[in-house]
Amino acid sequence: MRLQYIGTGAAEGFPGMFCRCKACERARKTGGHNLKTRSCAIVNDKILIDLSPDLYAQSLSLGLELGKVRDLVVTHTHKDHLDSFSLELRAKEGAVKQNYEEERENQLSVYGSSFVQAIIQKALNEEPGAKASRIRYLPVEAGKWFQVGESSFCPLKANHKKNELCYIYAVTDGVSNLLYANDTGTLSEETLKMIESLGLVFHAVSMDCARGILQGDGHMGIRENLELKKRLEQMKCTGMETRYYLNHLSHMSGIIHDDLQTIMGDHGFTVAYDGMIVNI
Ligand SMILES: [Zn+2]
Ligand SMILES: [Zn+2]
Ligand SMILES: [Zn+2]
Repeated sequence: MRLQYIGTGAAEGFPGMFCRCKACERARKTGGHNLKTRSCAIVNDKILIDLSPDLYAQSLSLGLELGKVRDLVVTHTHKDHLDSFSLELRAKEGAVKQNYEEERENQLSVYGSSFVQAIIQKALNEEPGAKASRIRYLPVEAGKWFQVGESSFCPLKANHKKNELCYIYAVTDGVSNLLYANDTGTLSEETLKMIESLGLVFHAVSMDCARGILQGDGHMGIRENLELKKRLEQMKCTGMETRYYLNHLSHMSGIIHDDLQTIMGDHGFTVAYDGMIVNI
């Protein structure tokens, strides 16, 4: 499985769009991996996990062929993860021409909770030229695997937003296994038990680290990351070959990418950066 991190920053981006805090000024000055656009990722160059408001610019800088993407798996509906304007464009008559194909194939399948369905409906309602047939909504449920091409996804309840069912995902192609865990704070016992019951050993675990050195809340910080790593090891869901990644960094943590890599490198974590490709 090939996972590419498209964006690795939290909602404001890093540096924050309008922010002049110390962390943002340092990120601007240092550049490189310290600059982070809003989070989303792509599996095997064709299955998107989330649709960030930066996706158009990200696709140009990373050379992503979004016209070939037919599937979008959504974690939750915060605007940094599901950009409804992009959905409007995907559905708009004349905006997406794929003349070599039947119109019925000119469709994006979107997987997520009923909250995701509501955002799709809103996008279709707001764009007068939208063709509803171009976006197919597929409901997903915690613990129930669904197939997308050669990959299977299992939604697991995140601990993120009080008024919405948010998901993280286990992903497998039968050979390699990934746990993609953002946005979320410390996982509930129910979710941990569900992860254990999957019977998978993850080759890669990607964790939310928006809180950095601060106490976790609806996002994890390094304390929660270390606890989750330990718990996964205890449950034998990870092994010697498991690689750990940190994602969704926020300027509010007060530390930049380079700082986090220095702190967490010794604990076996790699801080993900925009465009980073992980062969799992
Ligand atoms: Zn987010
Ligand atoms: Zn800032
Ligand atoms: Zn969020």
